Amino acid sequence: MIEAGAIERRVAELAAEIDRDYAGSEGLVVIGVLKGAVFFVTELTKRMTVPLTIDFFQTSSYGSGTSAGEVRIKRDIDLSVRGRDVLLVEDIVDTGWTLRTILDLFRFRGARSVRLCALLDKHEAREVDVPIDYCGFRIGREFVVGYGLDFSERYRNLPYIAVVEFPDEEQSS
Ligand code: 5GP
Repeated sequence: MIEAGAIERRVAELAAEIDRDYAGSEGLVVIGVLKGAVFFVTELTKRMTVPLTIDFFQTSSYGSGTSAGEVRIKRDIDLSVRGRDVLLVEDIVDTGWTLRTILDLFRFRGARSVRLCALLDKHEAREVDVPIDYCGFRIGREFVVGYGLDFSERYRNLPYIAVVEFPDEEQSS
């Protein structure tokens, strides 16, 4: 769906934009959402020059789906966000429940500002409103893998984004 070169170019553009916006900020904390955002966070921050620290956060939703609406914290960050500018970096925003929960949590903990950077935006699937300040690409409702995104833990290491075709869907359409 999205070639490696196109992702690299877009990540560089986003890094430049974020760098400009945070010029002068002394306490930027970049928080990646595990595991899907690992590649995105590293490639993005490698291209940024503002002083920053990096941390990771891991969630899982209750039940079997990704959109149960209740989000559980599996791994919390080590760093304090009180009085700091926070940039949350996520692989993909689908229903929005995961990010809604994390954004609210960091605001509650006293972050000075909280902004969101997402590589992919499944805009049509949104159930709760989450403003994406920096968006890589808008996509449809397809299930995608690669560049950190998995299907049963596989395909994260693909350097591009690919669509998974499910046989059942092909038969029914
Ligand atoms: P949300 O809470 O926005 O519904 O879900 C966000 C999470 O669902 C993402 O961090 C990701 O783990 C998972 N997700 C949503 N859509 C996709 C997709 O197309 N492919 C993969 N691999 N994961 C997805």
